[in-house]
Amino acid sequence: MTEESTPRHVNVLIIGSGPAGLAAALYTARANLAPVVLTGMDLGGQVSKTHAVENYPGFPEGISGEGLVDALHQQAVRFGTEVIFDIATDVDLSERPYKVTTYGEQFTADTIIIATGATAVPLGIPGEEEMIGRGVSYCATCDGHFFKDMDVVVVGGGDSALEEALYLTHHASSVTIVHRRDELRAGEILKRRAMENEKIKFVWNTVLTEVPIGEKVEKVKTKNVKTGEEGEIKAEGLFIFVGHTPNTELFDGQLAVDEQGYLKVDHLRRTEVEGVYAAGEVADPHFRQVITSAGMGAGAAIQAIRYLEEKGL
Ligand code: NAP
Repeated sequence: MTEESTPRHVNVLIIGSGPAGLAAALYTARANLAPVVLTGMDLGGQVSKTHAVENYPGFPEGISGEGLVDALHQQAVRFGTEVIFDIATDVDLSERPYKVTTYGEQFTADTIIIATGATAVPLGIPGEEEMIGRGVSYCATCDGHFFKDMDVVVVGGGDSALEEALYLTHHASSVTIVHRRDELRAGEILKRRAMENEKIKFVWNTVLTEVPIGEKVEKVKTKNVKTGEEGEIKAEGLFIFVGHTPNTELFDGQLAVDEQGYLKVDHLRRTEVEGVYAAGEVADPHFRQVITSAGMGAGAAIQAIRYLEEKGL
């Protein structure tokens, strides 16, 4: 973006296009505020890469992540949202209107709704980074089909790990879930399904220590955390689901974060900067569901609408 170009002014700028961002867009669009959504890397964020969403109310048979994002997108656009496939690279919240720079454009905005979501956490073990794309993945829906009739390892004991492991059973010949404890964090339904699936086996009390570097992943090295015993598991794929970290870098030094790094908001989704709200996983260490993120997006939007009315903007 060049310095000389005149910024484009918008009432509501929404950074991020997951369920929180698109719900905020729907509400502010219906208030005739012509919101602009900056999608970030992927339209829909994390849920767009989820195979199936079975716990979003209104879809008794479940819906694919992509299908849900498509519906949220269409609904927001129908009421006047402009969705821009671009990434915010700089934000200046020091004075109003706030300034947001993207790769392609510069904006000033009366209100900003931050819905930048969260990103998968890596394990941080030797070889992991080098082997991304050569067998190491953080998205079963994206990469599962590369592992047809192969053996894969999944790391993690939460809902993501189990859900993605179940998805991987459609492609892989075996799925070994390696978990650092002997108890799963995931909810009961997923737990039962995974336990009952013949293709899935569990390795308990075990962590991965290394992914040997080579042309492709062939095995992973392990360590039993109780006995200290080291071992290895032969596998062509390694899928890692050990949690997420909130995407707050854009606001470093401008907005407060809590001890876990999530943006701090009050009960009305307000950050400490007037007219700037946060919704979804960037500000939610607790629920992290599609429905709660969408709800937060709607809440932030309602606050933004009220704020603009009060200010006569
Ligand atoms: P999560 O619930 O935080 O689970 C992360 C898992 O990774 C835990 O089992 C944790 O072990 C393990 N782990 C963390 N760091 C590790 C490390 N360094 N080495 C080995 N293992 C490690 O994360 P998530 O599964 O991504 O889920 C995030 C949120 O989204 C949750 O609230 C979840 O309910 C929600 N979610 C819901 C659904 C659904 O409802 N269908 C689907 C996906 C996600 P410990 O258990 O020992 O801590």
